[in-house]
Amino acid sequence: MARINDHYLKLQAGYLFPEIGRRTRAFVDANGGEVIRLGIGDVTLPLAPAVVKALQDAAAEMGTAEGFHGYGPDNGYPFLTEPIREHDYGARGVEIATDEIFVSDGSKQDSGNIQEIFGVDCKIAVVDPVYPVYVDTNVMAGRTGTADARGFYDGILYLPATEANGFAPDPPDTAVDLAYLCSPNNPTGTVMSRAQLERWVTWANETGAVIVFDAAYDAFISDSAIPRSIYEIEGARTCAIEMRSFSKRAGFTGVRCAYTVVPKELEGTSASGDRVAIHDLWARRVATKFNGVPYVIQRAAAAVFAPDGRKQTQEQVAFYMENASRIRAGLGAAGFTVFGGENAPYIWMRTPDGLSSWDFFDRLLAETRVVGTPGSGFGPSGEGYFRISAFNSRENVDEAIARIGRAFGR
Ligand SMILES: *Cc1c(COP(=O)(O)O)cnc(C)c1O
Repeated sequence: MARINDHYLKLQAGYLFPEIGRRTRAFVDANGGEVIRLGIGDVTLPLAPAVVKALQDAAAEMGTAEGFHGYGPDNGYPFLTEPIREHDYGARGVEIATDEIFVSDGSKQDSGNIQEIFGVDCKIAVVDPVYPVYVDTNVMAGRTGTADARGFYDGILYLPATEANGFAPDPPDTAVDLAYLCSPNNPTGTVMSRAQLERWVTWANETGAVIVFDAAYDAFISDSAIPRSIYEIEGARTCAIEMRSFSKRAGFTGVRCAYTVVPKELEGTSASGDRVAIHDLWARRVATKFNGVPYVIQRAAAAVFAPDGRKQTQEQVAFYMENASRIRAGLGAAGFTVFGGENAPYIWMRTPDGLSSWDFFDRLLAETRVVGTPGSGFGPSGEGYFRISAFNSRENVDEAIARIGRAFGR
């Protein structure tokens, strides 16, 4: 029999969302009726009309002799990389070349695949709580030992995100090779300030670390003082890889399009001590393992940058952020301590009465029929916190907040 990759056996069971589903079903079976789900990290609004039109037009084009497209360029079509360069970077004073942009089918994939071009003995650092992909893909690659009873893997440096540090820890004193940052953050809904990002970039350039910067929620930033890209920080081109996605900004979770930026100045070292451009390695990986995002999907993504597409998708983001603001205000009025939700579609709340994240999940469900996400599911430092998502209808959000106010308000 074939030997399997034993590192997979170190992975902890995908416990969080199945367990939420199990407890919710058990409650509904016992009590009947409906629940309001504010636990999901998926968008709820339909695709913007401009995006739908681009999909339809591109599909029709593919059915014509002149408009048919087979394999596309490795990096993505210029009709998409050019507006990315112009609108996501140039408009904010950041110079990125189109051949530094790699269009992909998702930031989940990119943030999971990027570790592959680094050495197996690289040391990694993550913020805790964290988007689980960064940790699990390094476990699969064999960069860690086994997990302890609290869920910490041996060999990973965990940086606790706490109320004291505003859920944005400073760089560690110890040297690491790769550090994963996510801002605006899932799950805490908080953002890193310019000063914090500057400390990280300085640290990375001094120690030779590479920062993997996940900016999947950049479109939700409303505070103009908060950088949307790590490349707004001087020196980031020599230490950072950035990932962005159309999933949350334009409702592409089921359409699938994202991109990764790898600046040409970013270097690593080989076993013989030579400096190697990370860009070349990622380009090689993409060329070897990927045949590109479908033409029709890239056309749909390009429509997000056209005037009507921008307007419509900005309205979607504004809709979710109005939900977030109502959730923040409602939870605050009910006496909860809340964080995030101002530049991100997630609200991170402290559980009341020192309840564990799961005990609060059960209590909230029983008393209000509202489902959220236990903070402990994102990592040990999430214990005692709870994530509420703004991805829902206005009606559901208002109803959920009214119920929480009645049940917990004083
Ligand atoms: C939703 C999300 C993504 C986006 O993933 P896609 O694969 O592009 O849909 C990336 N990072 C984080 C932290 C997310 O929450």
